[in-house]
Amino acid sequence: MGLLTIGEFARASGLSPKALRLYDDLGLLEPAVVDQQSGYRRYRPGQLAHAQLVAWLRRLGMPLARIKIVTSVSGADAAREVADYWRQVEADTSLRRQLASTLVDHLSRKDQAMTDTPTPLLLRYAARSDRGLVRDVNQDAVHSDGYLVAVADGFGANGDCASAIALEALLEHRATTGDVLNALQNAALRADEAVREVAATDSGTTLTALAWSGSELAFVHIGDSRAYLLRHGVLVQLTHDHTVVQGLIDDGTLTAAEAESHPQRTTLVRAIHGEQPARPDSFVQDAQAGDRYLLSSDGLHGTLRDEVVHAVLAEQQNPQDAVDELIRRVHTAGAPDNVACAVADIVEPVSRRK
Ligand code: MN
Repeated sequence: MGLLTIGEFARASGLSPKALRLYDDLGLLEPAVVDQQSGYRRYRPGQLAHAQLVAWLRRLGMPLARIKIVTSVSGADAAREVADYWRQVEADTSLRRQLASTLVDHLSRKDQAMTDTPTPLLLRYAARSDRGLVRDVNQDAVHSDGYLVAVADGFGANGDCASAIALEALLEHRATTGDVLNALQNAALRADEAVREVAATDSGTTLTALAWSGSELAFVHIGDSRAYLLRHGVLVQLTHDHTVVQGLIDDGTLTAAEAESHPQRTTLVRAIHGEQPARPDSFVQDAQAGDRYLLSSDGLHGTLRDEVVHAVLAEQQNPQDAVDELIRRVHTAGAPDNVACAVADIVEPVSRRK
């Protein structure tokens, strides 16, 4: 079969002649022949598959330099490159979604502040911890009140003490005035000290906690318990697991699907424990009436699929029902680990509700 002109090849591949010239210049897709005199490019029909791959990758939004890598390696490696790229896009998108929603809140509140006295919002909450159906003791602990909600998942011989002491210290050192993030960070450091005083070297706890200021939420987080936000029907995980496998996912060694069955999936790289000072993550989240927060230990989010957690949070009207239903579902799924679960809703005071 003869060679195709650039016009014919463009029509067949769905790429414009202008794009084909650019890809030639970049070394992404070189013509079979370039006429010495006229400079006309001609392509072999066998190059169509390559051209179509380039067109699809462009449609994905992949940068040209990255396309060059994908098209230069074999099928399996190319597949891995595309998967890696898409994972990165999704991670970026999720960060940008959070940023956008924070900005939307921030800007709409600015307008409101000019026309209206700001409505004080309230936290409506429920929390429960449960031994599950397999473990002999419950090393998970929870706390919830109108200002502070926390879950802790203890591990090691003294894990139950570690999680209880961490929450006690957090409560004792909390402040309900001033900078809520600073206060919570400080309370978390006190919790860490308290655990180090008593915990055996093999014992420790995770800690994921939120503190409520009346307009925003501060979070501290260390370990593999999690915080989620359900807003406008979308469930977003706010925290990042401090586990060996999450590290492997982040650097592209493992896919999220492979991580589910990895032997080290529950091995923590950071926690509150007897040895060195903890390094918790901390951040602030703007609150909106209607927001629902979930704090959970891995006995919940490691046992139930995201879709199930999402559905229960969306269906159950009040926090207590949501907590009870989530734990009921964990039991139905065999409850292999202890469970800690707290749900907190941001609500308008009754007098202001329409
Ligand atoms: Mn656990």
